[in-house]
Amino acid sequence: MKYLDCHAHLYDEKLCNQIDDIVSSSKRNGCVGIYNCGDSLDSLTKILSIKDQYSDICHAVLGIHPEFALENDDYFKQAYEIINKNISNIEAIGEIGLDYHYSKEEKLKIKQKELFIEQIRLAKRHNLPIVVHSRDAGEDTLKIIKEEKPIKTYLHCYSDSKEIFNQYLKLGIPVFFGIGGVLTFKNAKTIQDIVSSSSLDVFLSETDSPYLSPEPYRGKINTPANIPLIIKQVSKLKNIDEEKVAKILLDNGERFYGIK
Ligand SMILES: [Zn+2]
Repeated sequence: MKYLDCHAHLYDEKLCNQIDDIVSSSKRNGCVGIYNCGDSLDSLTKILSIKDQYSDICHAVLGIHPEFALENDDYFKQAYEIINKNISNIEAIGEIGLDYHYSKEEKLKIKQKELFIEQIRLAKRHNLPIVVHSRDAGEDTLKIIKEEKPIKTYLHCYSDSKEIFNQYLKLGIPVFFGIGGVLTFKNAKTIQDIVSSSSLDVFLSETDSPYLSPEPYRGKINTPANIPLIIKQVSKLKNIDEEKVAKILLDNGERFYGIK
């Protein structure tokens, strides 16, 4: 089978010293594309140099994660400089979004929304899709996507409700939903139900490496070589042959990142 890992962080310190091995084992398992997504200012140049070094398989998605929304002006000035300078060398803006998991403080929410909207507009100006991180912020993320209408939206590691999922489908703009290791967890009933009862055309395969390893590796370090375990789970949930699932998810990824 051939597949994409639409969302990974190979520059993470848990992985960056073994990228050669990770790329080889992923290729052996059928991986044909790894999309490394930005989080901090620091991550941006690392992603670009991984792309240079492994240009046959690694791609760059640059953006600032909501976790860094309270950084100072200089931080964002530097980040935007790097992103703008490399805009023709990247596939999307991400991961950007809202994360209210650790703090629901109003000041933080406002900053996160500003940063999110600013980066969606940047993506739109350059005709780029966006990769979104949304945690415990489902309603606010939906509201912003609805208002800003990004060109193409990918909600990575989708973790919101089925009601919100259905509302996204009604927006009339292209929205994709990332499925990864969580889909194999016993307690992940909501996302399992969403996948079981929906058309596969809206889902993207991802790992979020080094995080969220699928079963039976839950808790261990994740790599793009593990995507076949996610495909296997989708195949079980949908009762569709694994090869066919892989083909559909690959097509979706190619549609999202504009390869086709
Ligand atoms: Zn991520």
